[in-house]
Amino acid sequence: MNFKVDVLFPGFSGKLAVGYMGFSTWAYVEGAGHKMVLDTGFVGLRQDYERMLALHGVRREEIDYVLLTHLHFDHAVNVDMYPNATFVCSRAEWEYANNEILRDKFIELPALPVLENGRLVLVEDGDEVLPGITAILTPGHTPGCCSYLLDQGDGTVWGLVGDAAKNRRELERGEVQMSLDPESSAASLKRIRESCDRVLPGHDGWLTIKDGKIIAEGGNDIHMVFGQGVTVNGGQTEIVLKMDE
Ligand SMILES: [Zn+2]
Repeated sequence: MNFKVDVLFPGFSGKLAVGYMGFSTWAYVEGAGHKMVLDTGFVGLRQDYERMLALHGVRREEIDYVLLTHLHFDHAVNVDMYPNATFVCSRAEWEYANNEILRDKFIELPALPVLENGRLVLVEDGDEVLPGITAILTPGHTPGCCSYLLDQGDGTVWGLVGDAAKNRRELERGEVQMSLDPESSAASLKRIRESCDRVLPGHDGWLTIKDGKIIAEGGNDIHMVFGQGVTVNGGQTEIVLKMDE
């Protein structure tokens, strides 16, 4: 099986003094006779949704599977954009999100009834979601974080891992920021590194794993444009952040 994975929006791990940016990775996945998306993108994408999917030759009504890594707001906020999709989520994440006592404040509560009333498939560790796509549980960031392993049929495995590894630094270091359970996170990162040749994190672009090294495939510099009346560095209205600096 050969899966096409087009990154619709490359995630970015950004946090401002005033709060989280929530720029999560959103990708179009095609293969096994299905048109899928990985997670649903952050809320700021909604106005560009149709256009961004159209650039990759697909309409949102054609999406028949949505692979959810977890149910935090920045990944699950746009579940209502897929009227014809089957949603895939880990059973552990579903139970966590529905547990009023245990769940954290980042769970996207309005997504729950949409999933409940739609077609929802709850997966366990090791389940084959579709031919060539295996779900593995990679807990830590949340108890039910799920990664999707795509068997590319050429001996390589691509991992769509969500916030189990938010970015290159976490995968490299083997530890994450914002984990509910750092030990589980470390074990999940180890499993991802051992299982995958290529990894798409929850808030970063593609990474290649080669001889134990993590290599960022593309430049991920961020060009920021500020709103009216906002300036930085004594007058600039735009700024380019270089990831490697
Ligand atoms: Zn998250």
